[in-house]
Amino acid sequence: MRLGRWILPIVASLILVACSRPVSYNQTIYVFGTLVDITLWGMPREKAREHVASLASRFRQMHQDWHAWQPGALRELNAAIEQGSSVAVQDDLRLLIERATQLQQRSGGLFNPAIGKLIALWGFHKDDPLDGRPPPHAHEIDALVSSNPTMNDLIMENGEVSSRNRNVRLDFGGFAKGFAVDWAIEELRRQGVANAIVNTGGDLRAIGDKDGKPWRIGVRHPQGEGVLAAIETVGDESVFTSGNYERYNEHQGVRYAHIIDPRSGRPVAGITSVTVIHDNGTEADAAATALVVAGVEEWPRVARSMGILHVMLVEENGTVHLSPSMVKRVEFQGEKPPITVTSIRGK
Ligand code: AMP
Ligand code: MG
Repeated sequence: MRLGRWILPIVASLILVACSRPVSYNQTIYVFGTLVDITLWGMPREKAREHVASLASRFRQMHQDWHAWQPGALRELNAAIEQGSSVAVQDDLRLLIERATQLQQRSGGLFNPAIGKLIALWGFHKDDPLDGRPPPHAHEIDALVSSNPTMNDLIMENGEVSSRNRNVRLDFGGFAKGFAVDWAIEELRRQGVANAIVNTGGDLRAIGDKDGKPWRIGVRHPQGEGVLAAIETVGDESVFTSGNYERYNEHQGVRYAHIIDPRSGRPVAGITSVTVIHDNGTEADAAATALVVAGVEEWPRVARSMGILHVMLVEENGTVHLSPSMVKRVEFQGEKPPITVTSIRGK
C-alpha cells in the first residue's frame, strides 16, 4: 500500500522523462512533387510533430501558389502578363520575384526564371514530360529567344506586377525549393529549434548537428542507383543538386533535358549534374541550375560571380569537376571517378 503510493508516481515521472527527453524526430511528407524528409533533433517528440505539421501545411500552400502550370497565384500572374495587364501579388511572391531578379543578374542571365514559355514549348509544363514528342520547330524557339524575356521586364508598382514583355512567363522551378527550405529553417529557428535538416528529395538545408555529430548526407549517383559521394554539413549549410537526368523527354534516341540554356533556347547537353554547397538554399538552388547551363567551360566564372565556393559538376562522360574547396568536402563512395580540380578564381 505504502509502496504503491511511491512506486506509481516514480514510474509515471520516469515515463514522462523518457517521453520528453531530446530525441530525433523524423517525418516524410509528399509535397513539391517529391518526398520531403524533415528531421529535428533535441526536443520532445510532440513539439517536433507540431513543427513538422506546420511546415507541411505552409509547403503545400507554396506548392499551389507557385506552381508553373496548375491553377494558383503564379498562373494568374502569368496570364495577366500574357494579356498585358497587371495583377496584385502577395508579399512572398513579390519576394520570390525580387530574389529571382537578383539571381538572374548574378548568374549573367543563365539562371532565368522568365523563360517559362521556352520550358513549356519543350513540353515540361506537365507532370510527365516523357511522351516522345519531337522537339519544337527552330523558328518557334528562335522567336522566343530573340524576344529575350528576362526578369528585368517586370514592373512592380503599388503591390502590382506587370511586364513590358508579353513573352515573359515565370517558372520558379529552378529555385523555389531552395526558397521554401530557407523559409522552413528560418521558421524553425524562430521557434527555437537549433538542430534540423529539411531535405526536399536530396536538396537540403541543415542547421546544428545530431547529438554532437555532423549531419551526413548522400549525393545520389547521377548514372544509376546508389550514392556518388557523401557530404557532412558544417553549421548552417545547404546542399543542392541539379540533374539533367531526372526530367527529360526522349525522341528518336535523343534525350532533351529540362534545363534550358536561355541563350539558345535549347536543352543543355553533356552535363549530368551539378552539386553546390552554400550557406543558404535559395542561392544554392539557383546556382546549381545556372552551373548546369554554364557547363564545363564556364562554370568557374559563373560560380565566382554568384559567390559560390563549393561546386561539383559531373560530365556525361563521367568526369567529375571540383572546385578546390569542394575537394575537401566530398567523400566518394565506391569506385573513384576521374577528377579534375579547377580554381574558380581568375581565368
Ligand atoms: P533544378 O532542378 O533546380 O535545376 O530546376 C529545374 C527547373 O528549373 C526546370 O524544370 C525548369 O522549370 C526550370 N528551368 C529550366 N531552365 C532554367 C534556367 N535556365 N533558368 C531558370 N530556371 C530554369
Ligand atoms: Mg535549382
